[in-house]
Amino acid sequence: MRPAPLHSIYQSIVALCFLALPVHARAAEVATAIGPIVGGKHGMVVSSSNEAARVGAAVLADGGNAVDAAIAVQFALGVAEPGYSGIGGGGFMLVYEAATDEVTVFDSRERAPASARPKMFLKKNGEPIAFAKRRTLGVAVGVPGALAGIEAARLEFGTRPLAELIAPSIELAEHGVIVSRLMAASLREHEAVLAANPAASARFLPGGEPLAIGDLLVQPELADTLRLIAEDGIDAFYRGPIGEAFVAEVDAAGGGMTMADLKKYAITRDEPVRGNYGVYELVTVAPPSSGGLTVLQMLALLDRLDLGQYPEDSSLRYHAVLKAMHLAFADRNAWLGDPEFVDIPLAGWLAPKYIKQRAALIDFDADTCPIPPGALAGAAPALAPLEFLNGDPQTTHVDVADRWGNLVAFTVTIEQHYGTGRLLPGHGFFLNNELTDFDPLPGRPNSPAPNKRPLSSMAPTLVLQDGQPAYVIGSPGGPRIIAAVAQVLLDLLEYDLDLEHAIARPRVFAAACDDKIRWEADLSPAVRSELEQLGHRFRDEPLEVGDVGLIAIEGDTYVGVADPRRDGVAVGLTRAD
Ligand code: GLU
Repeated sequence: MRPAPLHSIYQSIVALCFLALPVHARAAEVATAIGPIVGGKHGMVVSSSNEAARVGAAVLADGGNAVDAAIAVQFALGVAEPGYSGIGGGGFMLVYEAATDEVTVFDSRERAPASARPKMFLKKNGEPIAFAKRRTLGVAVGVPGALAGIEAARLEFGTRPLAELIAPSIELAEHGVIVSRLMAASLREHEAVLAANPAASARFLPGGEPLAIGDLLVQPELADTLRLIAEDGIDAFYRGPIGEAFVAEVDAAGGGMTMADLKKYAITRDEPVRGNYGVYELVTVAPPSSGGLTVLQMLALLDRLDLGQYPEDSSLRYHAVLKAMHLAFADRNAWLGDPEFVDIPLAGWLAPKYIKQRAALIDFDADTCPIPPGALAGAAPALAPLEFLNGDPQTTHVDVADRWGNLVAFTVTIEQHYGTGRLLPGHGFFLNNELTDFDPLPGRPNSPAPNKRPLSSMAPTLVLQDGQPAYVIGSPGGPRIIAAVAQVLLDLLEYDLDLEHAIARPRVFAAACDDKIRWEADLSPAVRSELEQLGHRFRDEPLEVGDVGLIAIEGDTYVGVADPRRDGVAVGLTRAD
């Protein structure tokens, strides 16, 4: 999927209209604008799904706050993009509360069941099981946290009953979602995984053919599941029939999850991590996501290099970005894991002296390799480099702002496209395969263990200027989340680019200097050839890097920007009174 050229995306599609809000909107006095980039004085939702964004806008129009709306959007994403996230997964919700200026992180990352073992992803000969197989295994399924995270956030900040926030999604599941360009392409691409599972193929490959753009995806089992949760609360999953069906399916797939694992599941409220770029402060999520700390370290390194001297589309700018990525990923891979199991060297991570030493390793004349991790906590562990073999994982991200100034950035995933590929029979949602985010080898910071959370890359982030919110941002894309969020922030905070340019410009990703660079189609051949002269190597074909959703807070106006890489939209609201 290549980014469309700017002119076609931003100059011809933006539609300003009085939107026919979906179900449950009772707010004729609220004007709405929907498009890839729109403004609004009293609310904004940015999501990769048109249906889900409109569900969130309806909640805001009806007087709900940003947390209410983000929850409603997430339920709707589980229906409109069931292969990317849903109640079978987990994620990170970052909430900025305007009244207190406080940031709260609800961490609903999946946990390994009590039966998990450090060598569970190894073959008898000690080698990791091939990823294509690993991703479908019962032992790859983590205890889902999504519902627990949603409910914790709702109880603390929400103003609406759970049933009200689920209702639009029951209707979407029952009456159907029109298959989008993105979903049609993804169903074709992952046909083999879906075909291997009878429940998934009945729903997504009716008559043996993948649903196509414009078809209607109707999900009656998912509607019933959501109705049960609306009626009985999240215990319908953690202590009830949905959970019982879930563990039975994990068991049938060779995993060892029990109801005791579900009952024991607890979210954590994590202290956010904070860093700076120039005059801006960044507030983001802590481990067990590596996303926040790796974005912060990348940006801290780039901030030392006075990057403004290199134009934003020059090869030296891309070189600096790649080298900062290599440095930050080296530390990520060496040191980060679930903080309940691993000591994270937080104190040194962004220390000016350390950043100065590490930035000095960046040579502007060559792609110097290898880049070892820094000695953040004594000697750095000698690890074989981690490979990001896991294809193109998928996820959803939503940003929401409300009329009171509250902001939410919420990323949720079931890890791979369609998770394990196993749709829970009779319940209509996918089993995640989040535990493939563990390092398959034992004895490392991110190795599997009972009740442990695998390292994530999710990075919902808030940017403050003079203590006031300036942006909320996030992306799907596995480790590429880090690359995408950092590059968009660099374009905004260093280069002061227009919002739409910052989102649409070509991005690059390579976690280590011996990885071939993943690059986007608009990256100019001249820049690629100059980077090759410095020693970088590129993959043969371009592929997208992330799908960034962004809200800019410009005085009393929100400007929402959806990424052209998927089918996303922003929906802005302005009240007439
Ligand atoms: N499982 C990945 C993570 O937690 C997310 C996958 C994706 O974003 O596509 O980082």
